[in-house]
Amino acid sequence: MSRPIRTVNQDLFTRGGIITERDPDFCIVRLRMPAGMITPAQITRLGEIAARHGVENIHLTTRQTMEFPHVDPSKLEPLLADLEENGTPLGAEREEVVNVTACLGTRHCKFGIIDSVGLAEEIDKKFFGKELPVKARIAISSCPNGCESERLNEIGITGIQKPVRDPGLCTGCGTCTHYCREKAIEVQDGVVVLHAAKCMECGFCIMPCPFHLISGNPPEYRITVGGHRGRHPLIGRYLITVKSPEEVLRVVDKIIYWIYRQASTGLMLPEQLDELDFDEFRQSIVTMIEG
Ligand code: SF4
Ligand code: SF4
Ligand code: SF4
Repeated sequence: MSRPIRTVNQDLFTRGGIITERDPDFCIVRLRMPAGMITPAQITRLGEIAARHGVENIHLTTRQTMEFPHVDPSKLEPLLADLEENGTPLGAEREEVVNVTACLGTRHCKFGIIDSVGLAEEIDKKFFGKELPVKARIAISSCPNGCESERLNEIGITGIQKPVRDPGLCTGCGTCTHYCREKAIEVQDGVVVLHAAKCMECGFCIMPCPFHLISGNPPEYRITVGGHRGRHPLIGRYLITVKSPEEVLRVVDKIIYWIYRQASTGLMLPEQLDELDFDEFRQSIVTMIEG
């Protein structure tokens, strides 16, 4: 069967959010949706836009965004204009910073330590779509439960909070110990003892003490680098812990800058980090942050 002749703006295919489909006469349009957040009005409008442009199904991706499959490339421009106007513009998927993912964090999750959604939005504003020699995925979990699998991303950010045993008369009731899955807190000789080496700094033991004898240090942000999903999953390596969203942005900026200047194409970031002395890499990032 002969295929219809269509006029396609090939320049659009240089943009990462437009992906050639299995049927090469069609494409997939991926959206940009930091932290996977979308308003009811936007999602209603997305349905209308999809219907108007003949899209039969919308696919939910693993990176908290949506994609429209089986789009006629000759009709992309009005579709992209509608998506832009809806605040759900074209996404990314090439060697660049792609959709930034995050759990609901302190906005809605009872375990949240940091505002992961707000941080994802800030990172997206600053870095989304930056072209790099390798793809950079960024994910944020608001606590060490790691619901976002952030350590399986090139840059992972985890909210942590260290518990502190306040001076006071611990009754040895053991209530707090039931909240620790790591057995990092136990009653010894009638008083509670914290084992720092086992503690994940999830902060779950902070609230339950009826006598308020365990408090939490201010939230911190633990950053890992070089994680990866896909064919050869890898857990990212610990890089640094910082104390504020502003410091996270600075660290992410330096990592992205390093990737931009030092990384090469054709090899995943974790493999490139394997070729380095990681302590030296860490030191170079720390030096850039301090500089
Ligand atoms: S990672 Fe922690 S804060 Fe985020 S959704 Fe999971 S349990 Fe909640
Ligand atoms: S912060 Fe979490 S891991 Fe550490 S002692 Fe408390 S409950 Fe256990
Ligand atoms: S809940 Fe409070 S009083 Fe009870 S063992 Fe823990 S720290 Fe001590």
